[in-house]
Amino acid sequence: MASISTVPIDKLLLDPSSVLRKPVNVISPKRRKCPRERFVQSMENLAIPLGQSEKRLRLYGAGGDGAMDSENATSSAERVRVTVRVRPPTRVEQREEDGPPFIFLDTEKNTVILRRRGSFMDFTEFQFDAVLPPTALQVDVYNMAARAVVLDVLNGYNGTIMAYGQTGAGKTYTLSDNLTNGGGVTSVGGIIPRSAAEIFDRAGLDQDYEFHVSMSYIQIYMEQIQDLLRPESCNMQIREGMNGVYVSGVEEVQVKSVEDTMKLLMLGDRHRCLSFTKLNAHSSRSHTIVILTVEKKAKYKTSEQKAELADRRRVSSCFVESERVLVGKLFLVDLAGSERLKKSGSEGIRASEAMSVNLSLTCLGKCISARADPAITHVPFRDSKLTRLLQESLGGNAKTSLVINIAPCSEYLQESMSSLHFGSRAMKLTTQAVVNVEEEFRVLTRNLQETVNLQDEKLQHLEASVLSKDEQLVQAQQSLAEKARQVELLREEQNRFNHKFMEQLRVKDESWKNRLENVRSSATNIHQKRIENLQDELTRLKNAENQYALSRPTHVINNNAAKDLAAQIIQRAYKQHYVAMLYKEKKKLEVVVGYQLMANSAVRVLKGIQLLDELFTRKNFPKLSLR
Ligand code: ADP
Ligand code: MG
Repeated sequence: MASISTVPIDKLLLDPSSVLRKPVNVISPKRRKCPRERFVQSMENLAIPLGQSEKRLRLYGAGGDGAMDSENATSSAERVRVTVRVRPPTRVEQREEDGPPFIFLDTEKNTVILRRRGSFMDFTEFQFDAVLPPTALQVDVYNMAARAVVLDVLNGYNGTIMAYGQTGAGKTYTLSDNLTNGGGVTSVGGIIPRSAAEIFDRAGLDQDYEFHVSMSYIQIYMEQIQDLLRPESCNMQIREGMNGVYVSGVEEVQVKSVEDTMKLLMLGDRHRCLSFTKLNAHSSRSHTIVILTVEKKAKYKTSEQKAELADRRRVSSCFVESERVLVGKLFLVDLAGSERLKKSGSEGIRASEAMSVNLSLTCLGKCISARADPAITHVPFRDSKLTRLLQESLGGNAKTSLVINIAPCSEYLQESMSSLHFGSRAMKLTTQAVVNVEEEFRVLTRNLQETVNLQDEKLQHLEASVLSKDEQLVQAQQSLAEKARQVELLREEQNRFNHKFMEQLRVKDESWKNRLENVRSSATNIHQKRIENLQDELTRLKNAENQYALSRPTHVINNNAAKDLAAQIIQRAYKQHYVAMLYKEKKKLEVVVGYQLMANSAVRVLKGIQLLDELFTRKNFPKLSLR
């Protein structure tokens, strides 16, 4: 289908005003005889309306929505769809790019015409399924190159969307730009966020089917496959199973929303091998593949629901009879760009990476050439990990769409030319996609696996709780032993104290006993002595009595006389006492009288002085009175 033609220079007169700065020129081959007009076509007119792009995509053959019907299950050969996208020139490119234009796009005929470098004669024309100018929006690219494949994947087909082109041509931008948005798709969102959004939107709207979407993310770096969602898994092996090739042991993570998908992509991107080169500040040093697996299963449970569904879908109920699961796999391949070491300035490890990338891209080119040529029977898929993995996408069970990214500057003309050649070769490839129907066992297996995982988790929880209980038990035992030890210590302490107390008590007891004994003995002694003294006194009194009895006069004293005598003695004593007192008073009186006499004479002296004083005083008065 692809046609390459060399256009003579006289048929393509160049308009000097239409240089690349304004930007890539668009020509209409039908009107080649009016060159002036054909170069001034505005790029703004080139944004492709959605309806049109959908119509074009139908050529390629979207599966429609009757996914469960058996017609879809039959394979039909389809050509790989190729879209060319020219990115806008950077500021530097705009500044540096002068001279006549070298690239012409015709979005009507979907042709790209390249003028060979340094030649005004040689033009090479390519035709593709779609050609997108620099003004094309991300949504246009998605609609033109990806949407149909995504819809097919939702219906159980395998699909591959692949970006090819030199480093810096816009592959990563086309596929996965604006991942950092963290979820929602924005106007600059690339094919990956848009595909995920389409899948989840459609799955959410479909009342009859339930969808299960899982995602894997791998990179091929220096011919080694690494799981970007589990980066410790490097050098993973490719195996071949009933459903084609697959990466053994790759992590498949269930995703339930666009946000989940974006989070995983951002997670994977952290381990992606990127580095700075002169051609691109974030040059991919590896090929990356995002794999979205969509499983679709009818929700119906009863035969009435089944009949209703068949009626609604306008298919025979036998087509919705068995509990089948449609499994579509979407491969989103961001190829590392080919690069010339001279231009990229890569050295050392960067140069090795570039060589490894170039080698695998050469191998990809060889496989495509071989597959495109019916005469060649051997296709060297096994020569590189990339071609081995893309084996199905390059002519097997897959619907494949290729985006060729082009940089719009003459410096990369050779690379652009080679990319366009690659694209036009790819247009010759046909694939044989079939609906992948798997019996319920896949779901059962997954459910079983989920149950096993759940049980495992429960078991782990139980084990953890048993372990923690064990630990608690051990701790309790330890604390019990500690408590017992403390009790033992306390008991010993108490015994020691008891013993000491008893000892002290015993000592005290003995000392009290001794004291009591002493007190008792001393009391007894005193008592004894008193008795003895009393006895002595008694004896003495007895003796005295005896003596008195012996010496007692014979006559009895008259009591009254004695009394009188006694009274006389007392009177005498009183008399003596009063006389002594009177005598003392007399002495005192004599002193007082003495004092009285002295006072009288003093008064007389005082009176004499007063008289003298008056006398002297009066002597002066008459003089005074005479006056
Ligand atoms: P590649 O992956 O092919 O090496 P990138 O996708 O990383 O190249 O693009 C290189 C630079 O060009 C990036 O800064 C990117 O944002 C920018 N770019 C590429 N294509 C476009 C486009 N269509 N519109 C705007 N910028 C673009
Ligand atoms: Mg890239």
